[in-house]
Amino acid sequence: MEKETKNFIEKIIEEDLRTGKYGGRVHTRFPPEPNGYLHIGHAKSICLNFGIAEKYGGLCNLRFDDTNPLKEEEEYVRSIIEDVRWLGFDWGDRLYYASDYFDRLYECAVELIKKGKAYVDDLSAEEIRRYRGTLTEPGRESPYRNRSVEENLELFERMRRGEFAEGEKVLRAKIDMASGNINMRDPVMYRIIKASHHRTGDKWCIYPTYDFTHPLSDSFEGITHSLCTLEFEDHRPLYDWFLDELELYHPQQIEFARLNLSYTVLSKRKLTRLVEEGHVSGWDDPRMPTIAGMRRRGYTPEAIREFCDRIGVAKANSIVDFELLEHCLREDLNKRAQRVMVVLDPVRLVITNYPEDKVEYLEAVNNPEDPMAGTRKVPFCRELYIEQDDFMEEPPRKFYRLAPGREVRLKHAYIIRCEDYEKDTETGRITTIYCTYDPESRSGATQQRKVKATLHWVSAGHAMDVEVRLYDRLFSVPNPDDKRQCPDFIDCINPESLKILKECKAEPSLKGASPGERFQFLRLGYFCVDPDSTEDNLVFNRTVTLKDTWAKMKEKFSQ
Ligand code: ATP
Ligand code: MG
Repeated sequence: MEKETKNFIEKIIEEDLRTGKYGGRVHTRFPPEPNGYLHIGHAKSICLNFGIAEKYGGLCNLRFDDTNPLKEEEEYVRSIIEDVRWLGFDWGDRLYYASDYFDRLYECAVELIKKGKAYVDDLSAEEIRRYRGTLTEPGRESPYRNRSVEENLELFERMRRGEFAEGEKVLRAKIDMASGNINMRDPVMYRIIKASHHRTGDKWCIYPTYDFTHPLSDSFEGITHSLCTLEFEDHRPLYDWFLDELELYHPQQIEFARLNLSYTVLSKRKLTRLVEEGHVSGWDDPRMPTIAGMRRRGYTPEAIREFCDRIGVAKANSIVDFELLEHCLREDLNKRAQRVMVVLDPVRLVITNYPEDKVEYLEAVNNPEDPMAGTRKVPFCRELYIEQDDFMEEPPRKFYRLAPGREVRLKHAYIIRCEDYEKDTETGRITTIYCTYDPESRSGATQQRKVKATLHWVSAGHAMDVEVRLYDRLFSVPNPDDKRQCPDFIDCINPESLKILKECKAEPSLKGASPGERFQFLRLGYFCVDPDSTEDNLVFNRTVTLKDTWAKMKEKFSQ
């Protein structure tokens, strides 16, 4: 019930529905530029656009904003389609490309020229910048601004035919060089780019700008509410200007705050650099905040959608705690992940009073949160592995795990007592721990003795060697975008963001697990199978640890 408060966009939409502004229609769109992979910030926009359409019985289009042939690639188009689907959204048959509208956009540009509202300018990019003025100074008019309609029509046509070199001419809207809003100082509508486009090939050598393309595409598709991030607020007058001058159907642009996440960068330019300079293994590196990276890391679409729901939408920029994202993930994985036992840093443990050849198959609950998940049998024998750090020769006061003379419980099994141990005199590393077990203490027996710690373990004779990749946050400072914290964000990459452990010991039930399957390794965290796995080398990615600092913080605040 707590979720019943409406965000400001929903309020606007409900008001429009009440007044019948768009005949009761709600139609949104998600308009990615295919120049990189989608990231968690895009997920916010996707959940918002598709979510709003769903909530009000409307439609949401997927539209590629593909107006820049230099940076755009087919690979990105494919990945974006896959990622939006994976997040759980459906655009039906409404998959569009801005490039589908190139002919119509060209006609609209011609119409603006005919109306005396656009002109061909010969100034160079650099001169245009200088003429534009500043926030405090008005701009200056280009000497080419008052060309006749006929001359503009002819020059624009010749631009299209490829008669001029790149940068030689542009088409500009004729608005107001003295406007207080710099975006209104005769913005560029078309530039010459002699490059092949991923869809239109070499048909065009002039390409429309975002500012010209976006409002028109929205209009052509009958979008009602065009939701975009705050940095476009100053572009809204221009959005409105194009539609008004062309007397086209007019959607409403509404801006919301973009998502920023602590310990993360979310600009495509920066993410591209991470990939191109090899700081990560690719766009789907499990440390990347991309949807593809998060999927490989073991995130669920449900957790991402829940996160987007909880952060809500607002008008003011802020930085969301990474812990909240992890909290949503743990909540979801806790419900669905099967529990298993894996030892990451194994030490041999021998139960001296357990028969040599005996094997018991002990019943283990698969998921205490899900009664439908059932149970499995885990082999137990005389020789086991436990974690190195679950044993200490000389334990400090608060260490309740295994130590000489101490008792602990082995999960799903017996209480054991440490009688002796051996260590490598050179390295100081413990090599074998000798214990006795209490045959009367089996888990689930009626008379339960209490001990202070329960350890996970695997049977040495049945264990399978697996590789485990421990991921941590990619950056070591809260705001890698802040130049004061990091002059160059690359220098703030966390050197400990990936640790690879070979020869971890896994219980045999994990044999045959397939890429994408998720588990909770008892006491260690959530893990999922990486696509790098082969039949004889299973690779697990650590999705997230068990410790939930967010839940703790909330507890503290609510006390
Ligand atoms: P970046 O700033 O990361 O380079 P972009 O805005 O250039 O991203 P687009 O492909 O143009 O990327 O974005 C598609 C849609 O996603 C746009 O409507 C944009 O406003 C939205 N979007 C991008 N980044 C975020 C973010 N961090 N939070 C919310 N929405 C975002
Ligand atoms: Mg953009």
